[in-house]
Amino acid sequence: MLKIDNLQANVTASGTDKPILKGLSLQINAGEIHAIMGPNGAGKSTLGYTLGGRPGYEVTGGSVDFDGKDLFELEPYQRAAAGLFLGFQYPVEIPGVSFVQFLREAANAQRASRGEPALSGGEFLKLAKEQAGLLRMDMDMLKRPVNVGFSGGEKKRAEMVQMGILDPKLAILDETDSGLDIDALRIVGEGINAIMRKPSKAVLLITHYQRLLDYVKPDFVHVLAGGRIVKTGGPELALELEEQGYEAVA
Ligand code: ADP
Ligand code: MG
Ligand code: MG
Repeated sequence: MLKIDNLQANVTASGTDKPILKGLSLQINAGEIHAIMGPNGAGKSTLGYTLGGRPGYEVTGGSVDFDGKDLFELEPYQRAAAGLFLGFQYPVEIPGVSFVQFLREAANAQRASRGEPALSGGEFLKLAKEQAGLLRMDMDMLKRPVNVGFSGGEKKRAEMVQMGILDPKLAILDETDSGLDIDALRIVGEGINAIMRKPSKAVLLITHYQRLLDYVKPDFVHVLAGGRIVKTGGPELALELEEQGYEAVA
């Protein structure tokens, strides 16, 4: 599904030009859940942004194959249409646009790029209700402007509703657990499992803490440090890291 080979990338945002990813390699097969952990500033978010095609992140070497395509040949919207979903640490607020409007536009834009017909109002509402239900999110909440006045937990749950509606092949979720209380953590974890734990899909969870991994059990855990993967193990590696810290383990 995803083959990252010797990826090198610079952060060029805010006038800098700083190498962050320095030869990162990682392979994720369909049906697998991978977690990337690592110290602050290791380049975890840079990896997510680079794969998503965010401006301010420049690829300087290496290659990424996504589902048989050269990822860097695709524009960001084409990456999304091809089935890549990125969940961000800080979801944006969009005043003046209701979440249902936004979700319907997003769903239909994605369907159009796949050559599928737009969903009717009724079809969309049925889909939205199903997905909102999975995340215990009230439909009234989704009639409000995108993320405006949402709590941290509500933003993350709404983002997972969006993921459920877009039905991606690969989800890269950057610190989806940050700012969640225990109940929201469980709901989000169960939502990720319900939407993404399928033989045809894969997930890359980027996280500081192992607590989300209690709910979404990874098949592989990687440590990212100094711009590359320095250690790979099973779920037990996350527990070791939590107990002993990155310096002792990686
Ligand atoms: P992580 O997500 O692992 O905490 P990041 O990928 O966010 O790390 O950051 C990696 C490095 O890149 C850090 O040293 C950070 O300061 C730097 N960096 C990231 N974004 C920017 C930016 N917009 N401007 C300058 N430096 C940045
Ligand atoms: Mg960070
Ligand atoms: Mg980060």
